[in-house]
Amino acid sequence: MTRSAFISALLLLVGPLSAFAAEQKIRVSSFSTILTEVAQQVGGERVEVTAHVKPGVDPHDFEPKPSDMRAVAAADLVLLSAKHMEGYLARLKEATGAKGNVLEVGNALPSLKLTVQHGDHSHDGEDPHWWHSVRNIARATKLVRDELIRLSPADKAAFTTATSAYLGKLEALDKWVKTKVAELPRDKRKLVTNHDAFGYFAKEYGFTVMPIDGVSKNAQPGSKAVVEMIAAIKDAGVKAVFSEDVANPKVIQEITKETGAKFGGELLSDGLGRDGATVEEMFKHNVTTIVDALK
Ligand SMILES: [Zn+2]
Repeated sequence: MTRSAFISALLLLVGPLSAFAAEQKIRVSSFSTILTEVAQQVGGERVEVTAHVKPGVDPHDFEPKPSDMRAVAAADLVLLSAKHMEGYLARLKEATGAKGNVLEVGNALPSLKLTVQHGDHSHDGEDPHWWHSVRNIARATKLVRDELIRLSPADKAAFTTATSAYLGKLEALDKWVKTKVAELPRDKRKLVTNHDAFGYFAKEYGFTVMPIDGVSKNAQPGSKAVVEMIAAIKDAGVKAVFSEDVANPKVIQEITKETGAKFGGELLSDGLGRDGATVEEMFKHNVTTIVDALK
């Protein structure tokens, strides 16, 4: 046997174990609506993405079903928001066994602190809502690209090209956000919502999030926290407050009634809001709603 024939034979033996055959799709399990889009954009035809957390579903309350666990066990890559978003992480890792293919995307991104309410006490935790900064989504895209290349090196060129195209779209989106936000003077960039999800947005685009300790999804109208919030909104002269698609709006109704601030509209806080919605649509909806109401 010649040397090159020997190498060919060796590649035939090793090939199927170390790389994906051209017709075999890379199975991706995604627990974030944002990362579902990212994986589809980067992986294109080469990936088959299972969206476990669907648009409009509250990821804080999501619990995987046995069918989710079976898909995870068969997946080549599992994508998580992380920063403690997935309380069922240990079960996912158990389902994937020794594969070590769970990518906790948020954990590789910069972190902001968030005060977490537990009944009558609070503590500092990590804010999990990193996707409200376009730059963070770009960072996440590169992480997903690198992981897909590691899984299927033969597709490196395709993944790299698709990533560049998607990053170009994100850059254009980031410019659009900054231009729209610039319509609002800095002293008017105050954001009041009933679920503290916009910390990364605020940091990236120059807003202040009004402290809403206790004004969480579980807060009761008339409670001390709500009364303090009403005073703070009057003090700051905030023109509008916002609600969120997956949160209870009762507290917001009381605040608008007591302060005279108008209800600015619903924001998409915990990911893409409905089937077919995209990252671009999420930002355009949120930023337009916020800027137009506060102007
Ligand atoms: Zn949230």
